[in-house]
Amino acid sequence: MLTSVCGINWGDEGKGKMVDLLSEDYDIVCRYQGGNNAGHTVINERGKFVLNLLPSGILRENVVNVLGMGMVIDIRHLAEEMARLREKGVKISPANLKISDRAEITMPYHVLLDCLEEERLKDKKFGSTRRGIAPVYADRFMKKGFRMGELFEPDRLYSRAKEIVEWKNLTIEGGYHHAPITAEEIVEYFKTYGEPLKEYITDVGLYLNEAAKAGKKIMFEAQLGALRDVDYGIWPYTSSSLTIAAYAPIGAGVPNLKLDRSIGIMKAYSTCVGEGPFTAEYFGEEAEKLRAAGGEYGAATGRPRRVGPFDVVASSYGIRCQGADEVVLTKLDILSIYEEIEVCVAYELDGKRITDFPYPALLDRCKPVYEKVKGWHTDISKCRKKEELPKEALDYIAYLERACSCKITYVAVGPERDAVIKL
Ligand code: GDP
Repeated sequence: MLTSVCGINWGDEGKGKMVDLLSEDYDIVCRYQGGNNAGHTVINERGKFVLNLLPSGILRENVVNVLGMGMVIDIRHLAEEMARLREKGVKISPANLKISDRAEITMPYHVLLDCLEEERLKDKKFGSTRRGIAPVYADRFMKKGFRMGELFEPDRLYSRAKEIVEWKNLTIEGGYHHAPITAEEIVEYFKTYGEPLKEYITDVGLYLNEAAKAGKKIMFEAQLGALRDVDYGIWPYTSSSLTIAAYAPIGAGVPNLKLDRSIGIMKAYSTCVGEGPFTAEYFGEEAEKLRAAGGEYGAATGRPRRVGPFDVVASSYGIRCQGADEVVLTKLDILSIYEEIEVCVAYELDGKRITDFPYPALLDRCKPVYEKVKGWHTDISKCRKKEELPKEALDYIAYLERACSCKITYVAVGPERDAVIKL
């Protein structure tokens, strides 16, 4: 049984919490794209955990966690993340963590290049998380990167480091006029942060195939939402990887296997980190009210998120891209601040009303068309059963189901593990 849990919107939908909850029924949780450029926040009985690279299943003792080949892994960040979790009593060993030998390594010079480019762009900056993600994916396709499996070949590593450094310095020193990097520091870096990871590195494709054959339940955990997918998202304001569910078996290392179920995580309102078009956006006091209620500050970067009402146009597109068989609606409790809830039901493009999400460049000319629905204006964060939800909340859920042509199977009403209602 292969399930993907993926984001319908711009990310930060609460995927981490839902993977943490749903992983109870799974044997394996697998990341298949991205790096440490986003964070999942999971709150359970042991405390609050921010996970950037490790799958959320790491917090469950019987779950095996996989970092798939579609990922880019900052090995220093991974070492620090593992140490932080261990301090809180989380057990990590090769028995419950497996890293693909084909995953790419994010190097310090990728982070450097990311920062240098953002600084060069000044006010035209991209809003990069400055974790080196675009540079490392670019090198992956240039075939001038390092992969996890190469840590086992130190001689080859050194000769490749020399070649890559020569090439990289053309940009670092020649283009950005920054101090050059050296092959020695790269080799040293691999010794410090790569060596301790060697026991976790394996052919995870083989492992996952065997596991699937043995009837194990595998969950794929997406890191960012559909609208950040490099191909299907709001390009170029996207991440540099494929976030969508259809890519999960490929990025995990099992292109031969098919998904059985795709669960979309969709937020009851909209949030977006960084630059780029965000049609249904609130500003000023209206934005501050929603941002404060939802605690909308980036888990990885602390940046305030842009906020707005639920967007039917973008979410319907997200549901389609994810092939979501069912949807979990998160953070419904936050909308308790409203007596009336606004919903963006269409865009106006050059005087015409549209409901199909347009090519991203056209979004700059789109204006939101809002509808108002009755709110419940009462605390729902303690509700644990459908019957306990106010009628207006159930009406809002039904309204979104109709508007987005989807089936909402759960709603989340708080950050805690049990703050979820099965519908
Ligand atoms: P992810 O990247 O999709 O996992 O999302 P983030 O972790 O960035 O953001 C989700 C945030 O909302 C976290 O702080 C969660 O603890 C919290 N959260 C998740 N679901 C709910 C919910 O239903 N209600 C509230 N109030 N908070 C939630």
